[in-house]
Amino acid sequence: MGYAHRLVSSETLGIWYGDLAKGCKLCMTGSKAVIFITGICGINCFYCPISYDRRKAGAFYIDEERIYRVEDILDELYVIRAEGASITGGEPFQRYDLTVRVIEMIKNVMGRDFHIHLYTSGFGATKSSIKYLDRIGLDEIRFHIVNDSIWRLVGYTVRETSMDVGIEIPVIPNDFDRLWRIVLKANEIGVKFVNLNELEITETNAEQISLRGYRANEDGKTVKGSRETAEEIIRRAYREGIDIAIHFCPTSFKDSIQHRNRLIRKAYTCIGWGEKVTEDGLLKRGEEEYIPLLDKCSIKIAVSRN
Ligand code: SF4
Repeated sequence: MGYAHRLVSSETLGIWYGDLAKGCKLCMTGSKAVIFITGICGINCFYCPISYDRRKAGAFYIDEERIYRVEDILDELYVIRAEGASITGGEPFQRYDLTVRVIEMIKNVMGRDFHIHLYTSGFGATKSSIKYLDRIGLDEIRFHIVNDSIWRLVGYTVRETSMDVGIEIPVIPNDFDRLWRIVLKANEIGVKFVNLNELEITETNAEQISLRGYRANEDGKTVKGSRETAEEIIRRAYREGIDIAIHFCPTSFKDSIQHRNRLIRKAYTCIGWGEKVTEDGLLKRGEEEYIPLLDKCSIKIAVSRN
């Protein structure tokens, strides 16, 4: 088949071949902050995992921190010693003004090499708005394919920008044919990678998932058959020598590696006298364990940043 990449499979990290996206590599180390730009989106996918708290136009977060000003982002970047950030929502193009301000501010303060990727369904995006994000330094863009009309924008972004372009989609069990068509199309137009995410169950999508007849795995957090369908796609693409890099990202990876590593980085910056960092990245004072939020370590940040 003439295909040089190795197929890698791990219970926790998932399964993939080809180069992982740079955003994914940083995510694995916990050095990538997640900026939630807005809760509005306009699509209404039945599997949308976003919490009720965040389904608001004004919802603005970095990691677990509710923020109000663009500059607040810097505190979190500092405490986790971030090497990159991802921008998500809702739909970032529904708050394009804020998305632009955030990218410009981060690139100005952290430097051009600080890696930023953005996740979009393309709803509200235009060719010129995408081109402008490329101009101000967005490094990587990932399209969630919700319908075929998005391919026009994906193709344009591949041809006319310098950004790394990927596809990132949740895997609905037994949705093999549609997913396979997406992989072939992405490969044909020169997309760099496809990320397949395990379908996650949250308080906001559980009912819709169950109404469609899907069932939970024993962990209660993921949908039965999602992992298996993704693995089938990757193994077939590998067998057939499809060039594009494909990665299945399990929910357990986000919880046990990405989130935990980020908390550990934050806890070690925030740690105070007499405190310990637990293996889950919590701070422990006496018998009390708590998540290292900024308001609990703000004095130490101010000292360190002076
Ligand atoms: S496109 Fe994303 S944010 Fe919008 S409804 Fe679908 S899953 Fe939720």
